[in-house]
Amino acid sequence: MLTTLTEVLKTAEASGSAIPAFNIDNIEGTEAIMEAAEAEHWPVILTVGQGAIQAGQLKHLARLVQDIAAGSTVPVVLHLDHGISYEQTVQCLRLGFTSVMYDGSHHPFAENVEESRMVVRSAHAVGVSVECELGAISGVEDGIFHKTVNLVDVDEVRRFVAQVNCDALAVGIGNAHGMYQGTPKFDFNRLEACRQLHTPPLVLHGGSGTPDDMIRKAIQLGIRKVNVATELRMAFMDGLEATVGSRDFYAMYRQAKAGMTAVARQKIHLMRNGESLPPD
Ligand SMILES: [Zn+2]
Repeated sequence: MLTTLTEVLKTAEASGSAIPAFNIDNIEGTEAIMEAAEAEHWPVILTVGQGAIQAGQLKHLARLVQDIAAGSTVPVVLHLDHGISYEQTVQCLRLGFTSVMYDGSHHPFAENVEESRMVVRSAHAVGVSVECELGAISGVEDGIFHKTVNLVDVDEVRRFVAQVNCDALAVGIGNAHGMYQGTPKFDFNRLEACRQLHTPPLVLHGGSGTPDDMIRKAIQLGIRKVNVATELRMAFMDGLEATVGSRDFYAMYRQAKAGMTAVARQKIHLMRNGESLPPD
């Protein structure tokens, strides 16, 4: 069933685990992810990102998720990823999203607070959850390049959560979008310091290519939502690439979906109970 981010984060909080957030771009990928979530009996956050929106998919993907969620055995959140403006979050409220992220991390602090407060006020009026962000995540996601230093200022976190009643907060701790070159370096002390401020559940973006041990540790330190996009897309494209020569249209998508489901399942399993699944 369709549910809010706040609801699934309660499940994560109660069990000291995390809920995966996967970007969706098409029907096949969404089905692949749902197959993994159903097999793992774990809630899933299906996020529509700026790349999909630029490709004209916002309305289609919203309807797709609503339709799939109506028949699913696990809770599903329809979530906007890195919302670029107050107006965009309002569009998503109208389209039936159950959660929106407003990313004001590239704005000056006061402006981020002000815009985030507006988003929270509107979204909460209709029972929709809100994720905000502090300490811009570096790297490229959906064609948007952030080169800001991505270590969150702990004092800003304290001041932000005192003023913005958001339901989840993404923090920069050295994480980046896309695939990492080598092993990422996370500032776990900073994460711990944030958590001690009694923040709303914390969110880790840029989960692609992060070693399982680091995801595990981040979850132990209070991360309750982990975003993974690139690694799933790669698996999908690998499947297409391996079968494109066959000129068998459906075989191509079957292979792409199977690859994506396998990666999604590994991520879900890790976030649900800390166990690594053997590679498929
Ligand atoms: Zn992100």
